[in-house]
Amino acid sequence: MSADLPSNPLQAGAREVALRLQRAGWTAYWAGGCVRDVIMGRTPKDYDIATNATPDDVLRLFPKSLAVGKAFGVVRVPIEGNWYEVATFRQDHAYRDGRHPEAVTFTDAQTDAARRDFTINALFFDPIAKVIHDFVDGRKDIDRKIIRTVGRPRDRFMEDQLRLLRAVRFSATLGFALEPATAGAIRDLADRIQSISAERIQQELTRMLLEAPRAGDAVQTLQELGLIKHILPEVEALKGQEQPPQFHPEGDVFTHTLIMLNAMVERSVQLAYAVLLHDIGKPPSAKQVGDRIRFDNHARHGAAMAEAVLRRLRFSNADTDAICFCIANHMRFMDVKKMRRATLCRLVGAPTFPVELELHRLDCLASHGGMDNYDFLVAFQKERAGEPVLPEPWVTGQDILALGIPEGRDVGLWKKKVYEAQLDGQLENREAALAWLKKQLLDAGSLHE
Ligand code: ATP
Ligand code: MG
Repeated sequence: MSADLPSNPLQAGAREVALRLQRAGWTAYWAGGCVRDVIMGRTPKDYDIATNATPDDVLRLFPKSLAVGKAFGVVRVPIEGNWYEVATFRQDHAYRDGRHPEAVTFTDAQTDAARRDFTINALFFDPIAKVIHDFVDGRKDIDRKIIRTVGRPRDRFMEDQLRLLRAVRFSATLGFALEPATAGAIRDLADRIQSISAERIQQELTRMLLEAPRAGDAVQTLQELGLIKHILPEVEALKGQEQPPQFHPEGDVFTHTLIMLNAMVERSVQLAYAVLLHDIGKPPSAKQVGDRIRFDNHARHGAAMAEAVLRRLRFSNADTDAICFCIANHMRFMDVKKMRRATLCRLVGAPTFPVELELHRLDCLASHGGMDNYDFLVAFQKERAGEPVLPEPWVTGQDILALGIPEGRDVGLWKKKVYEAQLDGQLENREAALAWLKKQLLDAGSLHE
């Protein structure tokens, strides 16, 4: 298998770890995700090694290694600057809290395979003998593109409820189907996801949104299995929320959001969550006016709701602020052609603008399909290319004081006014700006000849 793949330093190091363990008389295999990835022709992010050597044996054999989770049998081994997790074959006992095993015992490869979550993740590969050790029919499930728990689904999900989300993540990122009994157990146990910490839920959800080729399908699966209503009730509420067909021929707000998620090209955390949450303000602000539904102020409403969602999911302040700003601002993109130049400059000069522009593009694409505002903004940006994002103001507070305006609120107000005139393109240069300002001050009676 790996023999026909171009080798790389990360992989060569993983082979080296196994070779040194085997030379010392131990069994040592690549294990889990890296074996799955290599079989599928994907490049593993990291390589884990499983062995019958105990952590102390491993520490002795690799003097620079670190015992990171000795109780669980895990040692980290460095080879040429790359780190490898070497784990002793183990069995986990009694997950009383549904999250952490209470104790482990060291065992053999077959028993170690049985503690792993899904068959596709439970394979071993001997990189020296070039032999796959498959105790769970994982190879067949990779070929058939199926996510199936090792052992009885219900038991395995009861043991560790994070697996409910991992199943959906692997299905979405690899494009595999959930085997019916596995899917059925997830549906039955979906409400137990609430025992998992917000951080870990966020991690899994974020990986789905960023790594699944079709992130919308991942969210649809979460909805169909009854998981989304526990994780993000605000998104569940989009389902069945009708909207005016002349603007949204695609259907309800949930469908609209899924189309956008599926159409994402360049992904970022901020874009993914801005898309996912951009219309959550619609259901609570929906009003029937005559024969038409209106969603007055749904963007502002949605931004406030998104802030609560993102705090709950433990996002950083920076991400939360940026995402909420994008959501609050998203309806303004309908008016860009009517905006004053100064307003436009500020819009495209905002640090969130690249995310906002992409959000707007997806929003149009997933509804009426009209791209005129998007095209207008792209053209406007091009026209301004080379200009600094926002130019330095020609007139400063010092200038205004020097003209004889006393220190206080007025200085700031006039500074803002003259800067807007500058951005609007009404003024040629600093001299013209000062002359303009002086005239304004005289006209307003704030200054006397
Ligand atoms: P990726 O790193 O691409 O997300 P992976 O399969 O390597 O996928 P990890 O979370 O790195 O996943 O875990 C490594 C291996 O440990 C898995 O392949 C699986 O065999 C096992 N494993 C991880 N988490 C669990 C879990 N919650 N329950 C059972 N086994 C698990
Ligand atoms: Mg991994």
